[in-house]
Amino acid sequence: MSVTYKRVALIGLGLIASSMFWGMKRGGLAGEVTGYARSAATRDTARKIGLCDRVCDSAVEAVEGADLVILCVPVGAMGAVASEIAGALAPGATVTDVGSVKRNVIEVVGPHLPDNVHFIPAHPLAGTEHSGPESGFAELFDNRWCLIVPVEGSDPDAVAKLRGFWEGLGSNVEEMDADHHDLVLAVTSHAPHLIAYTMVGVADDLGRVTDGEVIKYSAAGFRDFTRIAASDPTMWRDVFLSNKDATLEILGRFTEELFALQRAIRTGDGDHLFEYFTRTRAIRRGIIEAGQDTAAPNFGRATTSNE
Ligand code: NAP
Repeated sequence: MSVTYKRVALIGLGLIASSMFWGMKRGGLAGEVTGYARSAATRDTARKIGLCDRVCDSAVEAVEGADLVILCVPVGAMGAVASEIAGALAPGATVTDVGSVKRNVIEVVGPHLPDNVHFIPAHPLAGTEHSGPESGFAELFDNRWCLIVPVEGSDPDAVAKLRGFWEGLGSNVEEMDADHHDLVLAVTSHAPHLIAYTMVGVADDLGRVTDGEVIKYSAAGFRDFTRIAASDPTMWRDVFLSNKDATLEILGRFTEELFALQRAIRTGDGDHLFEYFTRTRAIRRGIIEAGQDTAAPNFGRATTSNE
């Protein structure tokens, strides 16, 4: 059974907030949804496309009377937004967020919030490389994980209600500690994004040398990197700046492994390469068996590359 909040306020109206709005409408999860974005252009677009029942001209106005407030801005903006809305929050309201990093958000948001609201951070593991109010769709969270990261003293009833809300949006929900979340996400999302950004940067440099051949003959491996590397620059700048320790830890390990593979290639150690690639292939199978991706060739795309 899905959970309903009387009034939900979305602060920030980009990909995640707009997907949540359409998902709330689909599931009948909210009585009224108010929304606010800092730029007039985004608020105008939201009004034009019917995103939110009421688009407000200030964050304070949007959160007034809301029993659920969801911060959907880049991680680096969470603290300022929390400070702006703190005085207008209704007693007993739940304040949550969707930020990709959790320890830092807890540290910058928590101190601003009054004692009479429930602060329950969360992170939906779902997204695309698109951003902005027009990029959202109701199905974004279907069968994807949402990690809820309760802080010390979180009220179990408020946590259970938020869990029900995310399940109503289609997610599978699990609770996780903030530091563990940040390490897991550094492995599964943050470091891979940095590697994709780097690979596309390297290819771009090479592309200049070979007069565009890198793009012209780009096969699936590189195209997949370009999709990831097209992700929002503000969001990802903030992710790396706010999940610094975990990302550096994983990148350190990555560099060691890369050097080991580089050495195997230099010394002609085929056994090392073969064993390594056999191990990584098994991981892909595990992801498919867990229902987190399709077994179809080339992720089920209509056209396949002839890489
Ligand atoms: P988005 O589409 O780029 O939208 C961001 C929203 O935040 C926009 O409404 C923008 O306002 C507002 N904003 C940007 N900078 C701001 C600032 N300095 N102060 C106040 N508002 C600001 O972003 P998104 O993809 O929805 O991401 C939102 C959050 O979800 C981020 O914390 C991100 O880490 C997290 N997240 C993203 C993904 C993903 O794949 N995209 C997945 C999971 C979680 P304007 O439109 O007025 O500029």
